[in-house]
Amino acid sequence: MGERLLAYRFALDLNQSQTETALSHVGGRRFAYNQMLAVVTANLAQRHAERSYGIPPELLTPSVDRSAFGLQKLWNAYKQEWAPWWAENSKEAYADGCRRLAAALSNWHKARRGTRKGQSGFPRFASRRGRQSVTYTTGAIRVDDRRHVVLPRLGRLRAFEDTTKLLTLVETGQARISRATLAFHRGRWFVSFTVHKHVDDHAKLHRLSRPVGIDVGVKDLLVVAGPNGRELERISAPRHLAEAQRRLRALQRKADRQVGPWDPASNRHRDPSSGWRRTQARISRAHARIANLREDTLHQATTRITRAYGNIVIEDLNVRGMTTAGGSRKRGLNRALVDASFAKLARMLAYKARWAGGTLTRADRFFPSSKTCSGCGAVKIKLLLSERTFRCEHCGHGIDRDLNAAINLARYSAGTSAGVPGRDASGANRKTGLASAGGDETGTCPGRSATP
Ligand SMILES: [Zn+2]
Repeated sequence: MGERLLAYRFALDLNQSQTETALSHVGGRRFAYNQMLAVVTANLAQRHAERSYGIPPELLTPSVDRSAFGLQKLWNAYKQEWAPWWAENSKEAYADGCRRLAAALSNWHKARRGTRKGQSGFPRFASRRGRQSVTYTTGAIRVDDRRHVVLPRLGRLRAFEDTTKLLTLVETGQARISRATLAFHRGRWFVSFTVHKHVDDHAKLHRLSRPVGIDVGVKDLLVVAGPNGRELERISAPRHLAEAQRRLRALQRKADRQVGPWDPASNRHRDPSSGWRRTQARISRAHARIANLREDTLHQATTRITRAYGNIVIEDLNVRGMTTAGGSRKRGLNRALVDASFAKLARMLAYKARWAGGTLTRADRFFPSSKTCSGCGAVKIKLLLSERTFRCEHCGHGIDRDLNAAINLARYSAGTSAGVPGRDASGANRKTGLASAGGDETGTCPGRSATP
């Protein structure tokens, strides 16, 4: 028996006073974060100044303990002075502020010493525009019944969704909740529970063990194919999503006809009309709705796919952003949505494949999954995004573009890295990536290899 971390997220239906309490906790977390950041910054500046006067290290003002525990201790010692209203919120709000600051400071410290990859600057002050959330690790955190959850100080909160599944897991002793994060996101309050679930390592799912390739399309959400060239599944965008996208396009056309902030005639800024502002508000709501719908669809699809297929291959994430110059803005809304969906899909597949005991392979970033002919292996120099059908100049093969890419991805795994769990293509070498991928395809059609 092992343990697996799961997250359960529910949208909440908060009343006026609950909303005020939630906002107060988010604000309390931010206040503690900023207060402690000010203390740490002043302490660092003091020590820096003292050193510049030539004061020996042992006589410097002692450094503030920057651990979560140290910051919390300091907060508790001075909270009455800094925040006489502190008792209005659960102490968890301030503890969370200290915890987050300690993590940010530790990242900064490690990045400066070079023990952490990437750049991590000195923490900035948290603003009201930042992440609106607060995490509880102790106190009353639970699912109360099939529609309600309980959080410290906020009490019993109604969820929009059914909470039975998590409730059953906890009540039957199969799982325990270790923390809860309350967050305001896209106009709604959510609670997300971190859950430790006991798993039986011997439980095996029945599924296909040979590799499958998945391509994310513009027209259809996903296409799943096997290395034999057979289409296994095609998941199209649900009708309500297509409708929402049509409505969004109509709104954008409407906004174009209205008086916007830019006057093309005089090439100057101007005051936009109230009609334009109203349309913009509707556009942003439409965007949020589409993003929610796509996410729901992706969740359902990835859960099913990772249960059905044990060995999944997808395109490398970086390829998406590089295919066209100018980024998503230049490629239009639809393309931007597809790219965002792809990033989400890749993340969901990665953790769900792990839960299901399967593997997810990301093709080498130089593997031409879209441009390779799944019939003969010839590689096209150029393939426009508008070309929905792949037509091969060598063998005359004509095939749906997304299916063609999915088949190539399924074969990628068979040829190069079958069964290597968590393979990451970022470190892969360009030559070997292409050579082995091409090597697989030359088996089908000798003489026309993808190898340069
Ligand atoms: Zn061909």
